[in-house]
Amino acid sequence: MMSRDDPTRRSFERYTGPPMTLGNMRPNRIHSLDAWCLARGCNRHSVVDVNALPDDVPVPSIGPRLRCACIGHLGADARPNRSEYRAPGMGRR
Ligand SMILES: [Zn+2]
Repeated sequence: MMSRDDPTRRSFERYTGPPMTLGNMRPNRIHSLDAWCLARGCNRHSVVDVNALPDDVPVPSIGPRLRCACIGHLGADARPNRSEYRAPGMGRR
């Protein structure tokens, strides 16, 4: 009989831990998200300012609410804007 206890798959599922929130990324001085439109063939990139949103908003919850300018497509892949990241002690003000 086939085993469903595949260790590769199990570790992959375990990766879906608690989602990063805006509060988690603010200590890294990231105040915006990189977003890519999920419309087929669009993939337009935009930077979304999230300063107005509260700390407890999970980052993955924002993408589906974004509307692209292309065809008004609702839904984007949003993740913390790493170009804003400043490692502690390395940033210039
Ligand atoms: Zn688009």
